[in-house]
Amino acid sequence: MTALRFGSATDIGLVRTNNEDRYLVASPLFAVADGMGGHAAGEVASATAVETLKKAFTDRTPTGLAAAARAANRAVWDEAQASPDLRGMGTTLVALALVGEPGHEQLAVANVGDSRLYRLHQGEFVQLTSDHSLVGQLVASGALTPEEAEVHPRRNVLTRALGVDPDVDVDLVTVEVAEGDRYLLCSDGLPRELADDQMASVLRRLADPDEAARELVDRAREHGGNDNVTVVVIDVVDTDGAAPVGLDKGGEASTTALDTEDLTEPPRAGWWARLRARRSGPPTTRMITPRVIAFFVLLIALVAIAIGGIAYYARQSYFVGIHGKHLVIFQGRPGGVLWFQPTVAERSPVTTTGVLPVHLSELRAGKVETSLGAAREYVANLHHEYEAARSADTVPATTVPTTAPPATTIPSVTGVPASTTLPTVAVTTAPSRSTAPTTAPR
Ligand code: MN
Repeated sequence: MTALRFGSATDIGLVRTNNEDRYLVASPLFAVADGMGGHAAGEVASATAVETLKKAFTDRTPTGLAAAARAANRAVWDEAQASPDLRGMGTTLVALALVGEPGHEQLAVANVGDSRLYRLHQGEFVQLTSDHSLVGQLVASGALTPEEAEVHPRRNVLTRALGVDPDVDVDLVTVEVAEGDRYLLCSDGLPRELADDQMASVLRRLADPDEAARELVDRAREHGGNDNVTVVVIDVVDTDGAAPVGLDKGGEASTTALDTEDLTEPPRAGWWARLRARRSGPPTTRMITPRVIAFFVLLIALVAIAIGGIAYYARQSYFVGIHGKHLVIFQGRPGGVLWFQPTVAERSPVTTTGVLPVHLSELRAGKVETSLGAAREYVANLHHEYEAARSADTVPATTVPTTAPPATTIPSVTGVPASTTLPTVAVTTAPSRSTAPTTAPR
């Protein structure tokens, strides 16, 4: 029968104003969660995750552990949806549990995010979890070395976390139990400050798991303490049924209940990432604001402004053109701008035979005016000019009233051949403000 002994420590660090890390030591279940989100939401997220994990871990199998992690995800998600202050919060979660029947026990590891599990096995110190972060993926694919990842400006962007979607993929690993193995669960605040060999050296030197955990946290503080640091150390001890004296802590769950409030950044929903203060940067509370998303939002805003400008340009003016025999006032630009096609604002009863032919080519091209009123005035002037010329030429004053064709949509102002000869009798007398605009300005 396998027994575990364990120790833990957490620290706010030297830079943060609150501790958003939470951990769980409820043997045989252990976990670390590193929360993020504005207005104390990070603390809510990590606390909810570990509490739910503990409650939901009823099936002591690897899949039971993964199911408990998904339940934790759902609980954080539901809580985030229920409160605007908490929306967009999330948390990492790395959990280790002894599973299976006595005699056939295994260790199961569930992970989402960039908190880590390491194992010290026969002197070898190895990270067993993969980081769900941008740089973690780049390292996994060989595009970055771990050393480059340490200083990468985007090392803080997570690609997976608990609570940001109703469902989450949980990495699940099982490890054979071996007496003498030592496990280290930690938030990213530890590897951020200490290299792997520095962590390993502490774990080799200090046999007591509590002492080792405290020492690791202290060393992280000494190296800058730029982030909250949380450490759980678990030793695999084969007791042959006899509990070691003074080592087991009774298996009670304990979550840190550290600082209270603070906060700067509002939570953000959507594709999700987080930022942490850089090693050399100013002290800032860890934020959930995704810089990448902000960039794209800005880009989209600029494109929208550009389109808006084009739309305004395309729609803000009027022009007089010809459709069929009639002069028509269009809203828009002759020929359209991009996909903004001109629309009929008003049909004039004046026909092409009611204006001097010298104006017809201009009308066919579309005579641009700054407003509907100016366009009406232009049409009226054309007609008055024609009438004046007609009376001067003593053209017989035969009036042929014209009837407007039925109103149809006019896709374009071009392509309608207009008569090129000067008619002598077709004259209209109606003023050019007869119908209402068919299209309201945007
Ligand atoms: Mn952290």
